Amino acid sequence: MNSGNLVILGSTGSIGQSTLEVVRQNSDRFRVVGLSGNRNLDLLLQQAREFRPTFVAVGEIPPAGFEAQLPQGTILLDGENPLDELCQMPGADIVVAAIVGFAGLRSVLMAIHAEKHVALANKESLVAGGKLVREALKKSRSLIVPVDSEHNSIFQCLQAASSADQIEKIILTASGGPFRLATAEQLKQATPEEALKHPRWSMGQKISIDSATMMNKALEVIEAHWLFDLPLEKISVLIHPQSLVHGLVEFSDGALLAAIADSDMKVPISHALGYLNAADPKHARGGRIASGAKKLDLAVIQKLEFYPPDLQRFPALELAGTAIRVGGTAPCILNAANERAVEAFLARRISFPMITHVVSSVLERSAAKDYDSLSELVEADSWARTEAETVIGKQ
Ligand code: NAD
Ligand code: MG
Repeated sequence: MNSGNLVILGSTGSIGQSTLEVVRQNSDRFRVVGLSGNRNLDLLLQQAREFRPTFVAVGEIPPAGFEAQLPQGTILLDGENPLDELCQMPGADIVVAAIVGFAGLRSVLMAIHAEKHVALANKESLVAGGKLVREALKKSRSLIVPVDSEHNSIFQCLQAASSADQIEKIILTASGGPFRLATAEQLKQATPEEALKHPRWSMGQKISIDSATMMNKALEVIEAHWLFDLPLEKISVLIHPQSLVHGLVEFSDGALLAAIADSDMKVPISHALGYLNAADPKHARGGRIASGAKKLDLAVIQKLEFYPPDLQRFPALELAGTAIRVGGTAPCILNAANERAVEAFLARRISFPMITHVVSSVLERSAAKDYDSLSELVEADSWARTEAETVIGKQ
């Protein structure tokens, strides 16, 4: 067992806060040695006072007096790139990557280079830079365990396969979001408030909008492609409004394995942390630790429904296929255009259906190319944001 020293990137966000709840319940096992947050600095201070990490990093320049309010023994990293220092800090065993968006990719790569295990919530880093993440993993002893609930479930089910040819396909479930039953006309009128009201999960703003457009599932298909090294044909999506069966694996003998749990991110977070903290993580089948999540009573739930997704109303899913087939920087471009379009929708500059339209227009205009470095991705990301802004500006 490693020493259970955790760095939590994005500790003030939804996943970050759930991670700290899991840590509270397993305080004999884990120690928080690093925390980072971008904006909600009051909460970051509160967390620092409770968990007393060695280091704290802040995305933007902190206001005067911030450092003085940190508890004794906690140091504010103030170098040029404090997140780099934080995720490579000596003594840390596991980095929880819970920053939202492309902004999280660099720190994931840094953590892997520094041989830290990664509990990965930041799906955008695999979407945009899957190839770099995979190459970095090959050269490192670090392991990556997905925190995204679908991928975490599939990761668990895949442990029943002894070779890749036994895997027929994987199935990611999707709740269908707040507009599962909305008509095309209703989608045109959808407001940010309505789109943010997810029926099953409580999450950060960006992923909530992604869930409403189904872009979240598109990103997750690309995430699964890189994470499990599976071709597009072996990755499918089912709408499952109850959000209790998170992911399934179909095996060559026709058996389907599923992981079922309450819609509570503390379940996959606790699995990822327990797994990575085990004596021999690669062979840790158990490693179960307390999550604090509600136990399910299937006799009360009674009904689990599954439907095929409606690609007419939610065309985002098809864009994942396009991006994977085109390859190279295409998924990075898709992701960046989406980040920009979501911001524009939240600022009421574009309508709800325009989000997917912006992404598909930018993808069409792009000349995706192969990449070998983070700087090439940063360039593609920035090109796509500018293009997205042009499409948004024409509305
Ligand atoms: P959130 O918006 O609630 O939190 C994001 C965190 O990242 C905050 O701590 C914020 O301060 C920090 N951050 C934002 N921009 C930053 C930047 N440029 N540099 C440094 N830090 C920055 O988001 P969330 O819902 O917790 O999601 C985090 C990640 O986890 C996303 O990639 C999301 O897709 C993924 N995820 C979330 C859930 C969920 O239930 N919330 C489920 C599955 C996957
Ligand atoms: Mg998910």
